[in-house]
Amino acid sequence: MKHSLSLIPQVNGNIADERTRFALSSDSLIQIEPGFEFAAEDLLRFLERHYNLRLTISSHTALPIFEHTQAGIINFCHDSGMVHPEGYQITIANGICDITAQTATGALYAVQTIKQLFHSAVPELPAVKVYDEPLYRWRGFMLDSARHFCPVGEIERILDMMLYLKMNKFHWHLTDDQGWRMEINDYPLLSQVGGLSAPSPGFYTTEELHYIVSYAEKRGITVIPEVDLPGHCLSLLAAYPELGCSGGPYVIPSEPGIFYELLCLGNDDALSFSKRLIDYICDIFPGPWIHIGGDEIPTRRWKECPKCQERMKEEHLSNSRELHTWFANRLQEYAAAKGKNLITWNDGIDEKLSRDIICQFWFPYHNAYEKAVAESKRGRKFIMSDYFSTYLDLSQAVVPLKATYAYTGHLHAGKEAAQEHAILGIEAPLWSEHISDRRSRDKQLFPRILAVAESCWTDAEAKNLHDFIKRVDHLKGFFQTEFSIDGNMYRRDPFVLIRFLKKAIRIISMLRQAVSPNREK
Ligand SMILES: [Zn+2]
Repeated sequence: MKHSLSLIPQVNGNIADERTRFALSSDSLIQIEPGFEFAAEDLLRFLERHYNLRLTISSHTALPIFEHTQAGIINFCHDSGMVHPEGYQITIANGICDITAQTATGALYAVQTIKQLFHSAVPELPAVKVYDEPLYRWRGFMLDSARHFCPVGEIERILDMMLYLKMNKFHWHLTDDQGWRMEINDYPLLSQVGGLSAPSPGFYTTEELHYIVSYAEKRGITVIPEVDLPGHCLSLLAAYPELGCSGGPYVIPSEPGIFYELLCLGNDDALSFSKRLIDYICDIFPGPWIHIGGDEIPTRRWKECPKCQERMKEEHLSNSRELHTWFANRLQEYAAAKGKNLITWNDGIDEKLSRDIICQFWFPYHNAYEKAVAESKRGRKFIMSDYFSTYLDLSQAVVPLKATYAYTGHLHAGKEAAQEHAILGIEAPLWSEHISDRRSRDKQLFPRILAVAESCWTDAEAKNLHDFIKRVDHLKGFFQTEFSIDGNMYRRDPFVLIRFLKKAIRIISMLRQAVSPNREK
């Protein structure tokens, strides 16, 4: 019989017998097959922290299992026959908790489910059979470290939270007008000027970037770095003014906004710089994706710049929009030769953009969904981050919990059939214009990040808002402890309308500048 276990994200299949319990004691044993060490250690640390149990991990041997069943055995086994690489099964019966998975990540997800199943004062689990796998392969969260610098320790906490919620893509917004956060040896002024002289100073050293990648990898999370080009790059231009159209001087702003200054696409040095950036990213980030931003680009500077105009003539480009597409396609070609694919925001897509570039759909401007459906039919893949459902930096008055929970990530366009095959998954961005510390971050994250996680993982037919809210209430104390949440998970933002209006003005300005390519013909 299927029960609603108190889990977030809800599992996709289970049979539970709440009357029968599986109790652990200090004599219990954890047995593993090779490859499951990290998952077993994660469970071990949890049991020690919550129940002061110090269990032993042993490799699978011909142990006399019978002698241990009194005390309880947790058994990690490979199951190469399991269909989904991130799927897992948990079977608890007769003093044994069997965890089977095809991969280390699957086993790690089983452990996250088990941690939530404990949730009581004594180390006991209900007798359950859980068989679970994700709805979407892309279950993303985006952190903006550019507007406000975010320390490494806080990123570790966010990655830990993502693992708990079975989210597997960490999109790291590392550069923007307000700061450049990535050290690059060939261009030292990026971190020295773009990072340290930013209003919120700081940058990540090469060593720290490697560390975060490896910390994430252990938790089944791929890091997708974003370098925002050719717009949103005042911190880059402040460090290397010769790469901009006007030549500067440029000032790193402290205020949010859409600025006119752009990378000069007529300048060969700017192209060499962009390629060197991709080389550097390939050396540090092993994942197959690089996000190149491409959003909110007012094209005034390109129209005024003789070099950019010359480039357009050479390449037979009829407008600035095509110049942007030409740039993105050159970078995609370069990245593809290194086994990578680029990602761009949806205001950067058009028919001439390489189909290999993945689109992150954020802004539902006029006919954006129709355009996305057309692009999906031509083979483009999408990551869905609809502004009004997933933008967690917006207040709950604008992006209510209900909307986030109901979000399916589908490409609906009028009556046209949704192109589900083109959807890689859902991602929730957290922009940091107004988020400078853990407290303000947590206020925006919770409880909506829980809804995002469930929309990413759980099949639509297993979702229910009323039941979800009950589970949030049941688990909120647990999450508050486990994620070290600073304050109440349900706080409201009193300045919501002011912020929304400011954001709306930005978007209208962006639309006027960037969305209509015909205006400049
Ligand atoms: Zn130029």
